[in-house]
Amino acid sequence: MIDDIKGILELSDIDVRRLELMRKRRELPLAVEKLKKEIAGEAGMVQECADRITALEAENKQLEDTTREEKDLLRKSEDKLMHISTNAEYDAVHTEITGHKNKINAIEDRMLSNMAELEKLGPKKQELESRLNNEDLTQKKEMLIQLNAETAALDAELAVEENNRNEKMKSIGGNFVRVYERLQKNRKNGKHIGVVEDKSKICSACACSLTSQKYIEVRRNNSLQQCESCGAILVWKSE
Ligand SMILES: [Zn+2]
Repeated sequence: MIDDIKGILELSDIDVRRLELMRKRRELPLAVEKLKKEIAGEAGMVQECADRITALEAENKQLEDTTREEKDLLRKSEDKLMHISTNAEYDAVHTEITGHKNKINAIEDRMLSNMAELEKLGPKKQELESRLNNEDLTQKKEMLIQLNAETAALDAELAVEENNRNEKMKSIGGNFVRVYERLQKNRKNGKHIGVVEDKSKICSACACSLTSQKYIEVRRNNSLQQCESCGAILVWKSE
């Protein structure tokens, strides 16, 4: 076997490894994103719950102040009743009193509904928080660290293979490299080499039978031969 053929076979092996590394590398960012979203989602839900509790408590405090003011005003209106002399005054003060009472009732309804929601939110927040600390999320965080490490490792491996590839290319005859590169550009399945064996006499890349003439030339293993069907570089393998 001439060195160029040996070189092309080695180049092809490197490329198979590179393709596999690149395939794995492409999948990693998706997995990382998915995990990040899941982790952020859990933390986000706790925050949302905590924010709602703060808002409800603040609103109730505000409502308590308003109730106190309204009750004060109500008392003052009721005091006025003692010093009333005309029917018109009586009606006016009564309208005031009804107004204050209605406001106080509305505020109390609102506070009750807020408290009912707060009663449910307390345990819900606790449950979400316990989920944040549970094994599942811890595992996810660990997995994320692991995936990031894998990404770095794959990048390093790819860089090594890239370097191997460049070195290998320099050692192979220009004609072989040109054909190989063209095949690699035009087909993405990685089948750039057709191995031919005595027993089968077919191109392993496309499974087509070789003509007798082609077979004889490939068997010599000393020149650049391409499959007449698929164009793969043909290499003869003795058993
Ligand atoms: Zn072929």
